[in-house]
Amino acid sequence: MESPADGWMVVDGRRVLNFCTNNYLGLANHPHLKQAARDAVDRWGVGPAAVRTIAGTTSLHLELERRLAAFKGVEDALFVQSGFNANQAAIPPLVGKGDVVFSDRLNHASIIDGCRLAGAKIIVYEHCDPEDAAAKIAEHLPNFRRGLLITDGVFSMDGDIAPLDALYEVAERYGVLTMVDDAHGEGVLGRGGRGIVDHFGLHGKFDVEVGTLSKAFGVVGGVIAGKKLIVDYVRQKARPLLFSSATTPADTAACLAAVDLLEASEDRVRQLWENAAYLRRQMQALGFDTGLSQTPILPIMLGEAGLAKQFSRRLFEEGLFAMSIGFPTVPQGKARIRVMNTAAHTPADLDAGLAIFAKVGRELGVIP
Ligand SMILES: *Cc1c(COP(=O)(O)O)cnc(C)c1O
Repeated sequence: MESPADGWMVVDGRRVLNFCTNNYLGLANHPHLKQAARDAVDRWGVGPAAVRTIAGTTSLHLELERRLAAFKGVEDALFVQSGFNANQAAIPPLVGKGDVVFSDRLNHASIIDGCRLAGAKIIVYEHCDPEDAAAKIAEHLPNFRRGLLITDGVFSMDGDIAPLDALYEVAERYGVLTMVDDAHGEGVLGRGGRGIVDHFGLHGKFDVEVGTLSKAFGVVGGVIAGKKLIVDYVRQKARPLLFSSATTPADTAACLAAVDLLEASEDRVRQLWENAAYLRRQMQALGFDTGLSQTPILPIMLGEAGLAKQFSRRLFEEGLFAMSIGFPTVPQGKARIRVMNTAAHTPADLDAGLAIFAKVGRELGVIP
């Protein structure tokens, strides 16, 4: 990459249409965020020089946590260095040896690693299947002290949405804790991008909502949001908070600026969904298989990894950047191009991208 993440990017010396980043709202190169980062460097310097619990917690961090909690409509929020760290921070305090985690088959690697770190037994339930989750809980929970159900909110490879309402009912019935990792829903789903809990109207019900500020928010960072009692407990115990330095002033201030923009207007979120709906409709009309997608994550299913790689290479030669994704990130035989639009793409950009997809799709015999 030789330019900022935006609707167009310079990649390996070529200016290409970018359908490949998680920059959903086009904030990664937004002037308001950049100015906030510059101002923060002038006022606070470049590094925190401490972990949060010693001397790294600035008033910027506390303000961001207050603002995130208010934005999401939760009692409390804890800001950490990344979404990956958020899972490492949140899961081990909640469960340990003698406890059990019920985990969706397609949960993100950082959830799996967080569960492994916790030392809890991991029981996998079938993807987005509340009935299977109920069966697994009924079978296994009696053998353990405490249970925690964890799911991705939006699944990053297929773009489908976890049935959070039904999962909540199951968890409630059996008295297990609930946690959702909303990395791809934060800034995307819910009113004005308030996330998956807002999308399902489950405020105050899901125990823990983990998210990232590295995708739609355009910066970097993670958040653990939910009930005060739990977030406070995680704050005491979270090892990434205790043993790794705080986020930089520039990043923290840029995250605050992103919250400002999200609170001020829903236009970007609306534009993202309009773009996504248009792309999905047109890709399907061209004859592409867009899999299970219900969100701006739009997989173009191609099957064999070789074909997906060749497809991606041809797209790039035609001026479009979209990487292929194959095993082990997705199952064997389910290779794909994952198309990610951003609110920064214009209708002309989308049409240019569709024309390139149509050309390459016909050339490689994927569509008629
Ligand atoms: C991207 C992602 C993460 C990691 O977030 P970072 O902020 O990039 O570390 C965690 N969980 C899920 C579900 C993700 O999609």
